[in-house]
Amino acid sequence: MKTLPKHGVKNVLIVGGGTAGWLTACFLAKQLGTGADADAVNITLVESKEIGIIGVGEGTFPSIRGTLATIGIDEARFIRECTATFKQGIRFDHWVRAPGAPGADHYFHPFSVPSQRPGGPELLPYWLQGAAGKDVAFAAAATMQKRVADASHAPKRPSDGDFMGPLNYAYHFDAGKFAALLSTHAQSLGVKHVQATVERVSLDDDGAIGAVHTKEESQLTADLYIDCTGFRAALIGDALGTAFRNINDVLFVDRALAMQVPYEQPDAPIPSYTIASAHEAGWTWDIGLHDRRGIGYVYSSRHTDDTRAEEILRGYIGKQAEGRNPRQLKLNVGYRDQHWVKNCVAVGLSGGFLEPLESSGIGLIETAAYLVSYLFPHDGDFEPVAKVFNEMMKARYERIVDFVKLHYCLTQRNDNPFWIDNADPASIPDSLKDKLAMWRKRAPHRMDFVVDYEMYPPSSWQYVLYGMEFATDLYANGKTLPRTEEARKEFAMIAQMSQRALADLPSHRAMVQYLTQRA
Ligand code: FAD
Repeated sequence: MKTLPKHGVKNVLIVGGGTAGWLTACFLAKQLGTGADADAVNITLVESKEIGIIGVGEGTFPSIRGTLATIGIDEARFIRECTATFKQGIRFDHWVRAPGAPGADHYFHPFSVPSQRPGGPELLPYWLQGAAGKDVAFAAAATMQKRVADASHAPKRPSDGDFMGPLNYAYHFDAGKFAALLSTHAQSLGVKHVQATVERVSLDDDGAIGAVHTKEESQLTADLYIDCTGFRAALIGDALGTAFRNINDVLFVDRALAMQVPYEQPDAPIPSYTIASAHEAGWTWDIGLHDRRGIGYVYSSRHTDDTRAEEILRGYIGKQAEGRNPRQLKLNVGYRDQHWVKNCVAVGLSGGFLEPLESSGIGLIETAAYLVSYLFPHDGDFEPVAKVFNEMMKARYERIVDFVKLHYCLTQRNDNPFWIDNADPASIPDSLKDKLAMWRKRAPHRMDFVVDYEMYPPSSWQYVLYGMEFATDLYANGKTLPRTEEARKEFAMIAQMSQRALADLPSHRAMVQYLTQRA
């Protein structure tokens, strides 16, 4: 029979100080408290200066606002210290068809949900029926956010409170600065910081982690170990040998080249969305911060080589890339079925990584950190909480894989093998095929989703599905849409409100400057 820690879980050791390590430290310190009294939990974070953090991961999902508020970091400080900007969604360029082909060359995934007045009709079926007018994209018809973002306006006004605003939003930020802010904050909450490199991990008689041995300190022990060592997965992978499920047969990209470049003009408008542009063997991200852009090409090594990938990246950036060299990263795409094994929990890249198309990385860290603090096994009985944690994380990963694949598999591009292979039914998980089959006959509905298992709300699925020009044949249900007139008025009202919003909301750069200068 396994032995529980005699005194319950009093000591937590977080190994790794990237976004995963420090965010988990802040969450635990805030939710569980730290301090000298007998009931307090002692949290220590050990990180290796020589290894460093991955330093990418600059786009987030709106859940980050709740996370920052929960751990107690105010919005102006965050914007200032992380050179952060607002992200209202993602613009997908050339995902449906290749550049130059007739038809729309981009679509938008906004974070605001489709407008719905209390008692008013749900707009999607009426949009499908054509009530918003010909060639008006669902994202443009159903929310004012696309027009606001297109015009480089902010999602909020100076008079709006922290993390509030008329439109839903997340942020772009500098990953290194974010880790530094979280580190200072966690230490102010009582987290102990050790700088050392873990060289070896020893197991106890139950096969659980017994201690971590570092180059500098002799050894560190705890009741619960949190593996935030990134792709190295030093505890959950190397020491415990937990299996990693590779999903390269579904999501092909496995390399990244990243570069940071200044703006051509220092006062250029800052896009308040990520620009994700499809290329011949992958896609580029383009993220605007206060003072620079972060750009990267993620690509499939089975469909191109590194030299060609660098040409694509340089071609996209243009002259700002001259004299700069990209960083190359190899990506382990997939996840572990078991994130929590005995006295060890994986949070962040050590648990899994799916390509950064919809910023799932930091979103999954938020979920995991919240779950560890919520499920925290004070009595040291890990098994029941591990079961819940593993079920929840696996379910989320599976659904994110489907959601990310949705962006690829509906493409009409057949200009090169990467896109042809992506639309091959053999590469589409059955769970996604089933959803698509259902949505050929009726519009997706929130009841199609188990919301607690999903990172992305039903509206995100709708925006991507119809952005990719998916066809839903509502003919059979045509007569069950009796509120066309009301829906038409609603679409007209959204268009009108967008004009008012443009007059009301400051430019994105002005709002960022305002918060940067706020004390
Ligand atoms: P890391 O940042 O790698 O941190 C690992 C830590 O462990 C470091 O402190 C390191 O020093 C320490 N460490 C490792 N080994 C040892 C050891 N032996 N001893 C002591 N310490 C050790 N996510 C998003 O949400 N949005 C995005 O836009 C996004 N873009 C991405 C783009 C790319 C190309 C990649 C690869 C990832 C992206 N991600 C994105 C994911 C995101 O970067 C990560 O989820 C996030 O940075 C968390 O990383 P981490 O803390 O798990 O790992």
